[in-house]
Amino acid sequence: MTQGPILEQRDGIGVYGNFIGGEWVAAASRQTTENRSPSSPDELIGHFAASGASDTSNAVAAAEAAFAGWAATSAIARANILYKASEILASRIPEVGRDLSREEGKTLKEGIGETTRAVAILRYFAGEVQQPIGEQYSSATSSTLLFTLREPLGVCGIITPWNFPIAIPAWKIVPALAFGNTVVFKPASLTPLCAVHLTQALAEAGLPPGVLNLLSGSAAEVGDPLVADDRVVAVSFTGSDVVGATIKWVASERGAKVQLEMGGKNPAIVLADADLDHAVAQVINGAMMSTGQKCTATSRAIIDRRIAGEMAERLGASIAALKVGDPLAESTQIGPLISAEAAERVSSEIQTAQSAGATLAVGGDRPGKLSGHFVNPALFVDVDPDSRLGQDELFGPVLGVIPVNDIDEAIAVANSVRYGLSASLFTRDIGKALNFIQKIQAGIVHVNSETAGAEPHVPFGGYKGSSSYSREQGKASREFYTQVKTVYFDPPPSGVS
Ligand code: NAP
Repeated sequence: MTQGPILEQRDGIGVYGNFIGGEWVAAASRQTTENRSPSSPDELIGHFAASGASDTSNAVAAAEAAFAGWAATSAIARANILYKASEILASRIPEVGRDLSREEGKTLKEGIGETTRAVAILRYFAGEVQQPIGEQYSSATSSTLLFTLREPLGVCGIITPWNFPIAIPAWKIVPALAFGNTVVFKPASLTPLCAVHLTQALAEAGLPPGVLNLLSGSAAEVGDPLVADDRVVAVSFTGSDVVGATIKWVASERGAKVQLEMGGKNPAIVLADADLDHAVAQVINGAMMSTGQKCTATSRAIIDRRIAGEMAERLGASIAALKVGDPLAESTQIGPLISAEAAERVSSEIQTAQSAGATLAVGGDRPGKLSGHFVNPALFVDVDPDSRLGQDELFGPVLGVIPVNDIDEAIAVANSVRYGLSASLFTRDIGKALNFIQKIQAGIVHVNSETAGAEPHVPFGGYKGSSSYSREQGKASREFYTQVKTVYFDPPPSGVS
């Protein structure tokens, strides 16, 4: 047992443990895996527990044992711990933001911004649990006091992706804990250090043992047994639609509550009357920040044919000017892809699109001088909306311009994909904006701002294949992390004593 997450040093590099039952411990097998920086793969960030099924079972057992006590802890006491965790994490923003950039590859500014957002999420839920937890109704019987209570579910399995390695875990774990559940957290294998930072802040804030348990390890060794464990009554997953479909099938089949947030193929529609300077800047931000690796990233610019040529030129010039490089350098705007596999996959998709006849206007090659997993941001023009490039999530710095004749065609093209996460419209026309809001099939809709902006206190989630119809964040979180008890309270006919 150790006081902190680093169990030992190996050649000057930390060996990090799991957090189970309130203790930082090695995997039962004592095996570890290496975590390396995507911008400079020679840089070893740490060794992390390579957990297995027995570690998973131990973590679930610890969460199950802690549940009754945590559910019975007053909401105010729970809120105090969350608030304290927010202060601890806030005091570490520079360090954690830097680790996030080293580990995930987004720029330092984005790493610090994401960590700040995790702090805001902790603060929000420290307040949210003090909101009413039920409703009172009229009854057909005048003497009956009829009301509802929201109660926690039990042990929640939280499975998260690498692209927002601290904000997404925070927006799942914090509401789960706030409403009285206990948690077993499996972060993405590629970003275990951010998971350690969040867990450490909550542990230091005074969470009782077993309330939050962290397991680093692979999908097969940790994810599968966690989803299949009957003691885990709810599973919240964010990641790809392929994995989400499997998780939904396995968890629902055994009766667990399941929440899925998945991919996107998000459109930004630009009409001829838009402020083009603003539209160019916002579309570039939406498409290229975090190296295009956001579920809400803009991957299709659907543009009125009358301005499509001019917009494509301006987008191309801006994309070509983006500075690609070390995410920790202040001047860098675009960091690496998350892994060698991701960079190879995106490069290969770019080549496949070209072979299929798509026109690459800018970028798409690998910068020769950089040793990390870099791909220069790319712009395709005259993209066929039905092509693979127009339909599939590439999850990289690739934007496709699709010219259209009018707003109706733009909305039809925007809706023609299997996803429906976020969408933007750029216009000065209020009527067209209202038409867009009504007809667009997306869970998050922007008018005159990029597809990727999302604030932490409002519902977040998608339509169609992007989600399982549930929503995360803000007040929407209580729908998933609580269950409703309806109480009919009648006085005894003989009167109360
Ligand atoms: P992923 O491959 O689906 O992995 C997501 C998480 O699931 C990881 O922790 C992964 O573990 C785990 N996992 C994989 N297979 C599993 C299984 N059979 N059982 C249980 N867990 C399993 O996705 P990713 O590559 O990390 O993330 C990129 C995707 O996430 C994109 O499609 C993106 O759009 C989506 N995303 C959606 C949102 C949203 O809110 N809608 C937000 C961010 C990202 P390992 O890491 O060990 O493989």
